[in-house]
Amino acid sequence: MPPSIVLRSSQLIANLDALRAHTAPAELMLVVKDDAYGLGAHWAAETAVHAGVRWIGTYDVGTALALREALGPETRLFAWATSADDEVAQAIRGDIDLGVGSMEYLERVIAAAERLGRNVRVHLKVDTGLHRNGIAPAEWAEAVRRTLGAERAGSVRLVGVWSHLAEASDAEDDAAQALFHIAVREAEELGALLEHTHLTASAATWERPELRGSLVRVGAFCYGVRSADGPEIAELAPVASLTAPVVAIDGDGVSVGIGSLDGLPSSLSGRVTVGTPAGARALLSIGLTSTRIASWAGAAVGDEVVLFGPGRTGESSPTTLAETIGTVGEEILTRLAPGIQRRATDEIVDRA
Ligand SMILES: *Cc1c(COP(=O)(O)O)cnc(C)c1O
Repeated sequence: MPPSIVLRSSQLIANLDALRAHTAPAELMLVVKDDAYGLGAHWAAETAVHAGVRWIGTYDVGTALALREALGPETRLFAWATSADDEVAQAIRGDIDLGVGSMEYLERVIAAAERLGRNVRVHLKVDTGLHRNGIAPAEWAEAVRRTLGAERAGSVRLVGVWSHLAEASDAEDDAAQALFHIAVREAEELGALLEHTHLTASAATWERPELRGSLVRVGAFCYGVRSADGPEIAELAPVASLTAPVVAIDGDGVSVGIGSLDGLPSSLSGRVTVGTPAGARALLSIGLTSTRIASWAGAAVGDEVVLFGPGRTGESSPTTLAETIGTVGEEILTRLAPGIQRRATDEIVDRA
């Protein structure tokens, strides 16, 4: 057996259920950007829609269009990457909700909808302090007026106002929320009939209920990736495990068939434990194509070692690995080589 990423659909559903219970009445948007942090956007989105999730956030238009094909017309697909005109036209034909964070992009989206004679749903993004993408407060009223003008002309529906938080400190997020509320109120005073407001991603969605809008955009926590240096959350567990077989036994170590060329950061050498049939064992060193693990009684070639996962056989979670080397759990997932097999299971997970 080659190394594989084992995806537990039932755990993804359990996490989605826990998030929805925790954040109701806000509605959940599953974020599947970066191919669902390397786990597979199609698997994640299809599982979530099966479990009743109505909103999927993709970042890019291409992924949104592929998911439109896979999921059918009912699911709301939100793409917020500023995109080239041909992609915008495809998105409008594909009934994708577009996130718009600049006047320049707004004009191109309106022009594309007019050219196609179609109506496009727009979520205007206000800059609340990140200064990445977002309409500056000084331009906000103009952007809303322009969008509502296009709405009256039949090419646009202004369905949402949104922003993104730094999640660096509560004080900064509070200040961002204050700006966000001003922008929402201004849009409504100008005549917008908003379907949704949305501001928070994983950590703020879970920990700061007062910051949630009517929709929450959550990626990491759905996959059981907690915040680096953040608390464990009992209701959420990793949906993915990375497994590799024992390929050789030598002295007090065994070698498993996965290494840094597969995306395992070699800086983890000597610093974490992995799961084995006998429980937790030290990860001794990571080579290019194999990794040495402290042995156990009865170890045999072909035994399965769990490099990370929910912790049931002694392995660390992706976030615990990440903390060891000063990064975030998403990075551990997205670095894994695309060639590693992704394998979905419907195993019922013991969440005790
Ligand atoms: C990545 C992202 C999210 C989801 O972030 P998580 O921390 O993974 O929950 C939400 N909104 C935007 C705009 C993002 O870029």
